[in-house]
Order: sequence, then structure tokens, then C-alpha cells
Amino acid sequence: MAISRRKALQFSGVFVAATATSGYASTTDKLRPPSKVEKTKTTYKAPLAAAKGPRVVVVGGGWSGLSIAKYTKLFAPNADVVLVEQRHEFISCPLSNLWLVDKVELEYLTHDYLQAARENDYTYFHATAIGLDRKKRVLETSDGDIDFDYLVFAPGIDYDYSRWTDDIAFETRLRQEYPAGFIPGSEHISLKNKVQDFKSGNFILTVPSGNYRCLPAPYERACVIADYFKQKKLKAKVIILDENNAITIKKKGFQSAFDELYSDYIEYMPNTVINSIDLDNKIVETDFDEIEFEDAAFYPHVRGAKILERVGIAKDGKNMLEGDIDPLTYEVKGEKDIFVTGDSRPMGFSKSGNTSNSEGHHVAKLIAQKINKTKKIKWEPPTTTCFSAVSIAPERAIYIYTQYAYNKTDSTFSFASTSGSEDWVKDGTVNADSIYSWATALYNDMFDKNI
Ligand SMILES: Cc1cc2nc3c(=O)[nH]c(=O)nc-3n(C[C@H](O)[C@H](O)[C@H](O)COP(=O)(O)OP(=O)(O)OC[C@H]3O[C@@H](n4cnc5c(N)ncnc54)[C@H](O)[C@@H]3O)c2cc1C
Repeated sequence: MAISRRKALQFSGVFVAATATSGYASTTDKLRPPSKVEKTKTTYKAPLAAAKGPRVVVVGGGWSGLSIAKYTKLFAPNADVVLVEQRHEFISCPLSNLWLVDKVELEYLTHDYLQAARENDYTYFHATAIGLDRKKRVLETSDGDIDFDYLVFAPGIDYDYSRWTDDIAFETRLRQEYPAGFIPGSEHISLKNKVQDFKSGNFILTVPSGNYRCLPAPYERACVIADYFKQKKLKAKVIILDENNAITIKKKGFQSAFDELYSDYIEYMPNTVINSIDLDNKIVETDFDEIEFEDAAFYPHVRGAKILERVGIAKDGKNMLEGDIDPLTYEVKGEKDIFVTGDSRPMGFSKSGNTSNSEGHHVAKLIAQKINKTKKIKWEPPTTTCFSAVSIAPERAIYIYTQYAYNKTDSTFSFASTSGSEDWVKDGTVNADSIYSWATALYNDMFDKNI
């Protein structure tokens, strides 16, 4: 439960939030030394067979990169497509909240890059992209250089802790002891253990402002964790510290779930900017409160994945360091045939897997059109279909569907059509079933051969 504000404590290891946006970039510059990419340049070719056609290199095997690799090869069969991915296997973030509370098996979320590459006739190259020689058209990776004709960066997001702290040691503690769980891998495993081992008290979740990855996911996570605690009859509360002034999406559905299902288990605190966190005494200080916690997952602001900044194609718009691209062609400004897609894009689309997948189909067509030298194709709006669980016993969910429109006069995007169902009392069970059919269809679309 939130406790009232006391006089500011002399916290050890405390940070003061740099909430003002101005000054942020310079703080970051001071903190992060210039990239040492030049010194780590590889001087050998990646062990790849010679390209038999125009080479398309895709960096990042997430929802965006997988879709682009598969569909580029399908639309331009003579292309030699290489997917460069630093992970050994794909683990889905969508549905991972259900995995935290044992509603799905890890096997359902885990997929095989090698199989995807074999079935769809492209090459999976396990390496990390570390640099780019634009003139020579070479991507530098941890396992050698790759020549390309077309290059797609689809590396997703990284966390930006700089609004919370300028102390790297403290940031490291936050990352290690209270991981956000918004980038797949160990963070999710840590979080699952935290949730399942929780005994009593406050479990803090934070929601950043800005266009963070998966708007509904923090609220969905709060609901399923609260239900898990409720089923176990714990004396426990999920406290949501939201920097935004209200629930950012599916507000009606989530708010009614908080009120009607979890009044004893969720405390929702909008407009809440964290000023400091005392990790030793486990106290968060905001403008209005000091909140004690037993455990937490601190979700900081997000930014475009760091590789974009390293290779000099990140834009500092709103400090999110996403790709500096033409929003209609996805091409890096001033460059030909180098693209940035997925959650690294700067457009205000929902940072969701479904958006990245539908956008990926379009970007694959754009690249194939160039390779095939066919007539230019028109911009296609990405779509977002997004299901969120609100309870696990029984399983109930809400959903939203939206498309985007491009406004030529001021070059902005807006919602074109939005529909959905936030009435979990009436439609919740049917919506919950649809979560699984949605996920299966999307996994098939990214990994399996089209029949
Ligand atoms: C808890 C949670 C729940 C979610 N629920 C949903 C949902 O229900 N529906 C939905 O549509 N979306 C959901 N999302 C959002 C969705 O997961 C993301 O929007 C989606 O993954 C974005 O795809 P992407 O390809 O841009 O990035 P990612 O999927 O993150 O893929 C980026 C890939 O690039 C790789 N990479 C990064 N840098 C390099 C490099 N230098 N070299 C090589 N590889 C690199 C990474 O390893 C990663 O595999 C959820 C997210 C979370 C965290």
C-alpha cells in the first residue's frame, strides 16, 4: 500500500530523476563514451557462401526482421537473404505475461531460427551487427563482414535509464536486480521467479511515458500477476506507478478490471514520476509519496536499439534515438536501400509485434519491387491487433484493432479505424481463446513455409 510522503530520506545510492527533456541528450553524451566501433572492426569476411543474387541483409530476427526475411525471399526469389541475429532462438514477448503465471509453456513461445531459414530459403547467420561501412556497402558483425545490396535494421529497442539515474553502477543494479522484462530472455525468467516466489507486500510495476514497447503490456501484466496473487490468497498488492496521466490504451477494459476484480490487489497511481529509488531500503520516492516495496520490475523509458546510434543512423527526435528514416519508404534519410523497421522506427505506431509483422510484409514488397524492377507500390498502413488478458482464472481478455492513416498535409499519421472489445464480462472468454489463435497464426506467418 502507498505510504504518505515523509521528509526526504538521505538515501544511499539514490538517484534524482532527470525528468526534464532538455539537457537529457547532453547528460547521455557525458555518460556514454563515444562508440569504440572503429577499434572492434572485423577484418575478415563472414563465413557465408557467395551470394547468388542481390544480397538482402536483415539485422534482427524479431517480429519485424523475421517477417521481412521470409517475405522478401518469397516476393523476390532471386534475392540472397541473410538474417543476422544475435540470439540462438526466438522467444516471443507476446503471451510472455501468461507464461509468467503458468498459462502457457515456454515451448509455445520459443521458435527455431534454423527451421525458419530452411523452410523459407534464406540464411540465418548467428552474429551481432557492430558496424556499417556505408561507402563499401558492408555490414560489420561479430563474426565477420557481410557485403550487401539492401540492408534492413530491425533491432528493436533498448532501455534508457538516463531519466532515472546518471550513475552506471546504480543502473546496473536496477537492470540486474529489478529487470523490466520488456526484452526477451533472462529478464523474463528473473521476473517469473520473482512473481512465483512472492510471499506478501507490495510488488511495484512502472509504466514509462512516451511511445514505449507494447502500450497495454504493463497493465496486462498487473492484471495477471494480481490474479495469481489472488488465487494464492496472498496478502499482496501490485502497485502500478504510471508516468502517464491515465491508462494509455484499452482504458475502459483495464480500469474496470482493476476496480471490479482487483480492488484489493491492484493500486493504480497515474501521473507518477519517480524521483528516487532506495534499493537498500526498498523505498520509491515520487512527488507525492514514499512507497515501500518487497519486489519490483522497473520499466524505464525506451529508445531505438543502440546499434542505430553506433552506425550513425539514429535520429534524436524526442530523445528516443529511433531510425532517421523517410516514414513512407522506411529508407534512411540520405541513403539508398538501407531501411529501419519494427520498434526502431520513429513513427508513432504502436510498438507491437502485430504492427511489426504487417509492416514487415509491406517493407518486403518495397525491397522486392526494387530487386524485381517492377512498378512502384503505394504505402500500405500497418495494422495493430492486440489482445490483453485481464484475468487467468477464468481466462478473460480484451482487444483492440487499429489501422493507421497518413496525413499528407502535415506528414503525420493518425488512427484510421479502431474497433475492439473491452467488455471482458460479455466477450472476455471468447477474446481469451482468440489470444492463442492470433499467436499461432502470427508464429506460422513468421516461421513456417506458406503452403
Ligand atoms: C511483455 C510483452 C508483451 C507483449 N505483448 C504483445 C502482444 O500481445 N501483441 C503484440 O503485437 N505485441 C506485443 N508485444 C510487443 C512486441 O514484442 C514487440 O513490439 C515486437 O517484438 C517488436 O518487434 P521488433 O522486430 O521490432 O523487435 P524484437 O522483436 O525485439 O526483435 C529485435 C531483434 O533484433 C536483435 N538484435 C538487436 N540488436 C542486434 C544486433 N546488433 N545484431 C543482431 N541482432 C540484433 C534482437 O536480439 C532481437 O531478436 C509485447 C511485448 C512485451 C515485452
